[in-house]
Amino acid sequence: MEKTDYKELKERLLSGKKNGYDKLSEADCAAMEDYCAGYKVFLDTGKTERLCAAEAVRMAEARGYKPYVRGMALRTGDKVYACNRGKGVMLAHIGRKPLSEGVQLAAAHIDSPRLDLKPNPLYEDSELAYFKTHYYGGIRKYQWLTIPLALHGVVALKSGENVTVRIGEEEGEPRLVITDLLPHLGAAQNKKPLSEAVPGETLNLLLGSRPIGGEDESGRVKLAVMKLLNEKYGIVEDDLTSAELEAVPAVKACDIGLDRSLIGAYGHDDRVCAYAALKALLDLDEAPAKTAMCILADKEEIGSDGVTGMQSAAFDTFVEDLCASQDVPLRACFEKSFCLSADVTAAFDPNYPDVFEKRNESFLNYGIGLCKYTGARGKSGASDANAETVAYVRNIFDRANVIWQVSELGKVDAGGGGTVAMYMANRNITTLDAGVPVLSMHAPFETVSKLDCWETYKAMKAIYQAEN
Ligand code: MN
Ligand code: MN
Repeated sequence: MEKTDYKELKERLLSGKKNGYDKLSEADCAAMEDYCAGYKVFLDTGKTERLCAAEAVRMAEARGYKPYVRGMALRTGDKVYACNRGKGVMLAHIGRKPLSEGVQLAAAHIDSPRLDLKPNPLYEDSELAYFKTHYYGGIRKYQWLTIPLALHGVVALKSGENVTVRIGEEEGEPRLVITDLLPHLGAAQNKKPLSEAVPGETLNLLLGSRPIGGEDESGRVKLAVMKLLNEKYGIVEDDLTSAELEAVPAVKACDIGLDRSLIGAYGHDDRVCAYAALKALLDLDEAPAKTAMCILADKEEIGSDGVTGMQSAAFDTFVEDLCASQDVPLRACFEKSFCLSADVTAAFDPNYPDVFEKRNESFLNYGIGLCKYTGARGKSGASDANAETVAYVRNIFDRANVIWQVSELGKVDAGGGGTVAMYMANRNITTLDAGVPVLSMHAPFETVSKLDCWETYKAMKAIYQAEN
C-alpha cells in the first residue's frame, strides 16, 4: 500500500482524537481566556448553593430575564426564571417552536462537598471553642484538615428574618481551621486505612481560645465566641439550630501551571458546568428554535433528594406552568425534550493510572467528556443513554466544532458515581451525561483545564441552539 493511501485510510477510518490545543483557533484562545476570567469570579462569588443561585439570578436579570409568575403569557423570545427556595434556579428562553416540540435542557448542580454545621454546633473543650460539623457529600476527610476555612450561610430567625453569615472570605479577616495530629504522635494513626484515619467527629472547627469573665467561671471561651457572634449577627445560641452554615475552603480561584492553562478552585464540581450552562443560555442572542432551559439544582452531592434537589417536583411544576401557557400537556413536552446532564467527570491522572482505563477515560485538554453511562459496577444507578442519543449529541457537537471526547468514571471495578441524569431520564426526557474532566474531584481545591471549560460552554450553546 502506498504511503499516501495508508494515511488517507487511517484518517478516514480511525478516530484520531487530538489534544484540543492542536485544533483551537487563536480567536478561540482569546475568547477562552475571557470566559475563564468570568468563571473564576463566578466561583469566588458563589461558594455555596445559595450564593451561587443568587449570582445566577443577578446575571440573568442583567441579561433581561424576568421572574416567572404563574399564568404569565409567554411569547417567543421571552426570558423567565424561577428560584427554588434560594437554592436552585430554573431559566427558560422561550423558543420559536411550541413546547409540544420539547425543550432543550442543560441541568447542572450548584451544591459542592463541604462541612455543614450540626444543629447544636457550639461547644468548648479544654478552654478552646469549636463548631461541630457534619460533612456533606463524598469527601476525603483528611483533605479538610489544616487548611484555612471560611463560613457561609444563613441563620433563620423565628421572626422570619434571615441573617447572612460570611466569615473568613475577605482579605485580613480571620479564618477557621480543623487541626491535625503531629507526625511525632501519628504512629498509631498512620497504621489505619485512609478512610478511618480521620473520624467524622474530629472534624471540629476551631473558633477561639480567649476567655472572658473571671477565672472561676466555666465555658468562658464558648461564651466569648457567642458574644462575638451576637455582636456581629445579633444571634443567640438557639438560633444556630435553624441555620444552614457551611464551612468551605477560604481560597480564591486561580490559574494553575506556569503556562496558566489550568484553573484551581473549590467547587468546580459542578459549578464549572453550571456556569457553562448558565452563560451559554444568557448569551443566546436570538430566540432558539426550541425553548432552551438551564437548571441549576441543589442536593446532587447527597442524592438529588429533597425539595431543592433534581428529584423535586419544583422542576416539573415550573415546566408544567410554562406548558400551560401554550395549552401543552407536560408529558407531551417531556417526551420530545432533550437534557444534557452537565456534570464533571474524572480526568485521567498520571499520578494514579491504576484506577483508570486509559482507552475510555477523559483527558485534560481533550474537550467536554461525553458519558453514555455513569453509575457503579454493572452500571448500577446510571440512566445509560441509548446509542441514538449519543449519535444525536455527537452530531450537534461536530457541527458546532465542539472539541469533545468520551468519558467513563475509572475502571469498571474501581468505584463509580452518579449524576442527575437518571432523574431527568426517569421523567421520560431523553438524557445524556457530559461535562468537564476534573483532577482531584471533591477535594477542597480541584483542578480543571481552561480549554475544557470553554469547549463545555460551546457545547451547551450548541445544545440550546439545536433545531431538532
Ligand atoms: Mn457533580
Ligand atoms: Mn460530585
